[in-house]
Amino acid sequence: MAENVVIVGAVALGAKAACRFKRLRQDANVTIIDKDELISYGGCGIPFYVAGDVSDETELRSTSFHMVRDEKFFLNDKGVIAMTGTEVTKIDRSNKTVHIKKKSGEESDISYDKLVLATGSVPRKLDMPGTSLKNVFNVSNLRDAIAIKKKITRGEVEKAVIIGAGFIGLEMAQALADMWEIETTVIEYFDQVMPGFVSRSISLMAQRCMERNGITFHLEEIVQALEGDEYVTAVKTNKRTLPADMVIMSVGIVPNTILAKEAGIETGPGGHIIVNDRMQTSDPDIYSGGDCVLIKNLVTGKPAYIPLGSMANRQGRVIGTNLAGGDARFKGGVGSFVVKIFEKSLAGAGLSIDIARREGFDAVSIQVAQFDRAHFYPEKEIIYLELVADRKTRTVLGIQGWGGEGSEMVGRINAVAPLIMNKAKVEDVGNLEIAYSPPFASAMDIVNALGNTTENFLDGMYKPMEMEEFVECWKSRDNGDCFFLDCRARADAIPFEEKFPEIWKSIPHDELEKRFNEVPRDKKIILLCNTGIRSYEAQINLAAHGIDDTVSVGSGISGLKDCGIEF
Ligand SMILES: Cc1cc2nc3c(=O)[nH]c(=O)nc-3n(C[C@H](O)[C@H](O)[C@H](O)COP(=O)(O)OP(=O)(O)OC[C@H]3O[C@@H](n4cnc5c(N)ncnc54)[C@H](O)[C@@H]3O)c2cc1C
Repeated sequence: MAENVVIVGAVALGAKAACRFKRLRQDANVTIIDKDELISYGGCGIPFYVAGDVSDETELRSTSFHMVRDEKFFLNDKGVIAMTGTEVTKIDRSNKTVHIKKKSGEESDISYDKLVLATGSVPRKLDMPGTSLKNVFNVSNLRDAIAIKKKITRGEVEKAVIIGAGFIGLEMAQALADMWEIETTVIEYFDQVMPGFVSRSISLMAQRCMERNGITFHLEEIVQALEGDEYVTAVKTNKRTLPADMVIMSVGIVPNTILAKEAGIETGPGGHIIVNDRMQTSDPDIYSGGDCVLIKNLVTGKPAYIPLGSMANRQGRVIGTNLAGGDARFKGGVGSFVVKIFEKSLAGAGLSIDIARREGFDAVSIQVAQFDRAHFYPEKEIIYLELVADRKTRTVLGIQGWGGEGSEMVGRINAVAPLIMNKAKVEDVGNLEIAYSPPFASAMDIVNALGNTTENFLDGMYKPMEMEEFVECWKSRDNGDCFFLDCRARADAIPFEEKFPEIWKSIPHDELEKRFNEVPRDKKIILLCNTGIRSYEAQINLAAHGIDDTVSVGSGISGLKDCGIEF
């Protein structure tokens, strides 16, 4: 049991570990040290502070009962000594001391029984000219956010370029464009937003929503230099030069583990600290967690970097318990995330289809579209969920979704995440018990429909067509190989039938049984309806008449439209 605990880093993990330990060991000494004076803030709130939803930065550093978490608060309220403006420059493991340097220049050693490294991460740097020009920002801590907001509120920013379309880049783009009406462009190296996190079609839905709100995207583009004399004036890519009076770099983070490495603590090839499930490093008296460690990915079973505030807080509690002599375990995670994109949300847990395949799974993904509430309830909207599963074992590998204002989506992702953690099967998603009342869900909720549709697909009953396949097929529609059968109500389908009489036919689903002779047998039949439900039924009906060369557009015309596909 530790008597004297020193914690380096006082934002998410460090503050949580300190408070948990002190609650369990009121008699022990805890010192948290941070080189910054701003500590224990909600870093995840930064984009909302920049956007103006959170008006003052102190709100991010305050408790729910409006006390600012500073040195005084930690001492009086928590019994924890907080040393801010103090950098730990060295760990001496044999003498069990850390060397500190205050901003005043004063230096000294502090001894510990147990040490916690909560040093977080630092922004990934791009090796190109211009990154140190003025008005080029990272967005990795509260100081960056304060500086960005100051520029904006002084009216100094008209055109901003965000480099990187991960979740922080998207949140920052929205903060600038929505509240401050800054002309905002996002540049991304990969061919989609949120690369690696969601499928291409879900990423397109998010991108189109942001475009409708005035944000410009340049994908598959490489930033080569930031231009300007003292202040940044432009961003040069391999395709264009964009004028900019502010640039925000959000190209990822790397673990901040210099102290650990210099002290001989085991780190992985990417510099992440290696910990066991008690969050102990290779030195049993030193614990670590949060953005500087690798944890177990519960889908792959491999070490993974999942730098999220939700992880850091839970790991901090595990460390606090263990420092007090307990035996708490952090088993790992599936990387559950959610991002607010204007009035909608993008969320997921586990592996996306691309990552699942890259990890060697024989992975399939099925997307469904359905109302978020009972179809008869007046307020409702179509939301999209995609399930990633292993073909052979039918194990659920991931879930991602788009739509809803918040809890509609994240509630469903959160319901499936524990199933993924426990290696549940597709059938478990179909049978998942979901609380139901018409203003909140459907009796057969979209989550259940997702599980059932994936089951039907794996059983060979359902043959879907993905968005990209549809686009290819539509491009080559004049070669006569495909025939588009529209199963919606006649009024919806007629304009298409009139526009494309050779290839598009309207047969409402309730007329199909009588009119199946009108369906050509020498072409591939692309079945469409609004959300994919009637077209799936039609697929089964046609199969019963020996018409097997059919595919049903998974999320229907609604999904194609939300992806911005024009046809
Ligand atoms: C803009 C933004 C939005 C985010 N949104 C979300 C979200 O919506 N959901 C989510 O789950 N996560 C989100 N995150 C991620 C989340 O904020 C981090 O995962 C979390 O803060 C990590 O906590 P940590 O304690 O490991 O490290 P950090 O929060 O990085 O804290 C590390 C601290 O250590 C200090 N330090 C480092 N070295 C030393 C040293 N040698 N001496 C003294 N002090 C030192 C640093 O000054 C820093 O204060 C977001 C992050 C950002 C930047």
